[in-house]
Amino acid sequence: MTRAADVIVVGSGPNGLAAALTMARAGLAVRVIEGAATPGGGCRTAELTLPGFQHDVCSAVHPLAASSPFFRGTSLAAHGVTLCTPKVAFAHPLDGGQAAAVSGSVEETAAGLGADAAAYRRLLGPLVRDAELILPDVLAPLRSVPAHPLALGRFGAAGLLPASLLARRLRTEAGRALLAGAAAHSMLPLTSPGTGAFGLVLIMTAHTVGWPVVAGGSGQLAAALLAELGELGAEVETGRWVTSLDSLPRSRAVLLDVTPRQLLALAGDRLPARERRALRRYRYGPGVCKVDWALSGPVPWRAAACREAGTVHLGGTLAEVARSEAEVTAGRVPGRPYCLVAQPGVVDPSRAPAGQHTLWGYCHVPAGCPDDVSGRIEAQIERFAPGFRDLILARSVRTAADLDQYNPNYVGGDINSGAGTLRQTLLGPLPPWSGRPWPWPVSWNPYRTGLPGVYLCSASTPPGGGVHGMCGAGAAQAALADLSR
Ligand SMILES: Cc1cc2nc3c(=O)[nH]c(=O)nc-3n(C[C@H](O)[C@H](O)[C@H](O)COP(=O)(O)OP(=O)(O)OC[C@H]3O[C@@H](n4cnc5c(N)ncnc54)[C@H](O)[C@@H]3O)c2cc1C
Repeated sequence: MTRAADVIVVGSGPNGLAAALTMARAGLAVRVIEGAATPGGGCRTAELTLPGFQHDVCSAVHPLAASSPFFRGTSLAAHGVTLCTPKVAFAHPLDGGQAAAVSGSVEETAAGLGADAAAYRRLLGPLVRDAELILPDVLAPLRSVPAHPLALGRFGAAGLLPASLLARRLRTEAGRALLAGAAAHSMLPLTSPGTGAFGLVLIMTAHTVGWPVVAGGSGQLAAALLAELGELGAEVETGRWVTSLDSLPRSRAVLLDVTPRQLLALAGDRLPARERRALRRYRYGPGVCKVDWALSGPVPWRAAACREAGTVHLGGTLAEVARSEAEVTAGRVPGRPYCLVAQPGVVDPSRAPAGQHTLWGYCHVPAGCPDDVSGRIEAQIERFAPGFRDLILARSVRTAADLDQYNPNYVGGDINSGAGTLRQTLLGPLPPWSGRPWPWPVSWNPYRTGLPGVYLCSASTPPGGGVHGMCGAGAAQAALADLSR
C-alpha cells in the first residue's frame, strides 16, 4: 500500500529529482509528479534519428554535474553511471586550420596558446588552484558571507567583468576566441557584466573535472537518481501535467521544478499580489535551435585538437562570436551563428553503431523563433570541417518553438529557464521578502515562495541553468529547515 506523501515534487528534471532525493534521504515520503511520458527533464536520451543512434535530447556535457556538491554526494557509479572525460575538454577552431583548446592542466593549455601562455597562466592559474574553494560558493545561493571570501573575491573581480573586457587580458585571436566561446554559454551579449564569470567557471571546470559526457547518454544520470529514489520508497508518476496547486494531494511541502511563469499559473490568486508582480518581471533569455545528426563517421575537423574534443565551439573570432550573440539579443537570427557542438563518440562508442557517430549541436536564436536554422549550423561546421555534410545519414531538428512545446520550463526555447543576468543569477525570481519568516532579511532564502510550504526548485532559482541539481538540493534544504521549525 502506498503511504501518503509528506512531500510532493512537481517536475522530474535534475533539480526536481535532486529535491526529491534530498527530502527522501531525510526520511520523508516523497511523490514526484511529471507531466511528460518519461521522467528526467533535461536529462533524457533517445533514438532521435535512426535505430542504434542514441542522442541526448537536451543536456550532453556535464562539467557542472561533475563539480556539483549534490552529484558528488550521490553514488552515481553504484547506480551504473560512468562519466567519460575527453582528452580535450573543448576546442575552438579558427579559419586556416588553427584551433585553441583547453585540455589537462593550466600549464598544458597555456603551452598551446603561444604568445598568450603567460597571460592565460596569470588569469586561470590562481582560480584553478582555488577551484575547490570557489566552485561550491558559486554553485550555492548567495545568502550569507561566503565560506572563502578571499578566493571568491579574486574570482569575482575578474568574473564580474563583461567577457569582452576580460578578454583584453589576452592578446591572440585564439586566446580571446577561447574565452568568448566559453562565455557565450551565458546566452547574453558578451558586453554584459558577469559574462566573464560564465567563461571562467566553465574553463575552471575544464581544468578540474574535465567536460565529461555520460556513457550511454545523459538519461543515465536521471536513471541513477530515479533508482536511488526507488530504493528510498519514493513514487514517481508520469504523464500528469499539474495545472493548479489545488489539484495536488495534501502534503507537508511542495517543491516546484517549474519556472516563474508556471508558478504564477499554478498558484493563481493564492500568491500575494506583490510577489505576483515580481514574478511577472522575471526575464527569460533567447531560445536555441537544436540539431542532432547521425553520421557515417567522425567529423573531419581540420584542426587536430577538435578531433579529440568532447565539445567544439564554432563561430570564429571573439568579434564574430560577440556579433552573433548581439544579433540574437536584437531579435535576429545570425547569418553565421555561434554554435556549440558535442561529439560524445570521441569517448563513448556506445552511442552509435560501430564506426558511426552521433553529433549534437545548437545555436542561439531569438526567443520563440520557429525557424529551422540547421543549414546555418551545418555551414559553420563545414567551415571548420570540410566534407562534414557528406557524412550526414539523418538529422533531427528542434526549433526554439519546438523546445518550448517539448518542456514548459524552456520558455521560448530558453534552455536555462531564465536570462542569466547578474541580478537573476544571484537573487532568482522570488522577491527577497518572499517566504518571510522573521528575522528577514537574515532568513532570506531564494527558494521560498509567498505560500507557506511551497518552494521553487527549478533552474530559474540560484545558481541557475545546467545539470548540477543545486537548485533542487537548496530548495529541499530550505523546506527541511522549515519543517523542523
Ligand atoms: C538543448 C539543450 C542543451 C543543454 N545542454 C546542457 C549541457 O550540455 N549541460 C548542462 O549542464 N545543461 C544543459 N542544458 C540545460 C539543462 O538541461 C537544464 O538547465 C536543466 O535540465 C534544468 O533542470 P530542471 O530540473 O530545473 O528543469 P528541467 O530539466 O527542464 O525539468 C523540468 C521538468 O518538469 C516537468 N514539468 C514542468 N512543468 C510541469 C507541470 N506543470 N506538471 C508536471 N511536470 C512539469 C517538465 O516536463 C520537465 O520534465 C541543456 C538544455 C537544453 C534544452
